[in-house]
Amino acid sequence: MIAPDLFDTHAHLHFPEFAGDLDAVLARARAAGVRRMVTIGTDVATSRAAAALAQREPDVWAAVGIHPHEAADADEPALAEIERLAAAPRVVAIGETGLDFFRDRAPREAQTRAFRAQVALARRVGKPVLVHCRDAHAETLALLAADGALERGGIMHCFSGDLALARRCIELGLLVSLAGPVTYPKPGALPEVARMIPADRLVVETDCPFLPPQPHRGKRNEPAYLAITAARVAELRGEPLAELAARMSENARALFRL
Ligand SMILES: [Zn+2]
Ligand SMILES: [Zn+2]
Repeated sequence: MIAPDLFDTHAHLHFPEFAGDLDAVLARARAAGVRRMVTIGTDVATSRAAAALAQREPDVWAAVGIHPHEAADADEPALAEIERLAAAPRVVAIGETGLDFFRDRAPREAQTRAFRAQVALARRVGKPVLVHCRDAHAETLALLAADGALERGGIMHCFSGDLALARRCIELGLLVSLAGPVTYPKPGALPEVARMIPADRLVVETDCPFLPPQPHRGKRNEPAYLAITAARVAELRGEPLAELAARMSENARALFRL
């Protein structure tokens, strides 16, 4: 069987979980058909690491940003450094940024400030935004609905809402990204979202090392497992995996201009 053409739109390959065996992880990803990956920064240090990794690996690109959990550290110098890194070669997006009112690891006010600043930054540098959102959908979408906020589009990463919310994301110009949870025995509204979203608005991701798909739950996730998530989405849609995978990769390539 020829491996499908997969694009992992959200990974954290530069995290310490992969420090010991990244070459093997990348080799397994390539063997599973993952031809392109974006590795995502969550603060200044990891954004720097993401940009550096993307310069080393021909099929890895980077996003730079400050995660809502780290929003308390998103001061002027930190945001200036993110903007500087955004100009580095192979940095294709700003993120991850957004709002997380589920864990509330940073004050909500700080999260909102950091998110707004990064959406403005993305607009200035002409790159898409990678949005993280937990239990803060109304606030997140309101901020993104501001005039011109999403000039270059973006991705609602690890989508966790229902179909109405997915449609609202699409109206705003976002792609909807499905991750491991669509494979779980209790997937909530995700199967319906997977079925109903137009193919040209859909992408997939691992969010590795987090959120492994069903057969690997409780272990470290890695890009090779994207094939499992993509196969489940294709099954839900009743479409051949090869066709859907190619379509989703095309969506990601268009967004990131690759
Ligand atoms: Zn996230
Ligand atoms: Zn992430």
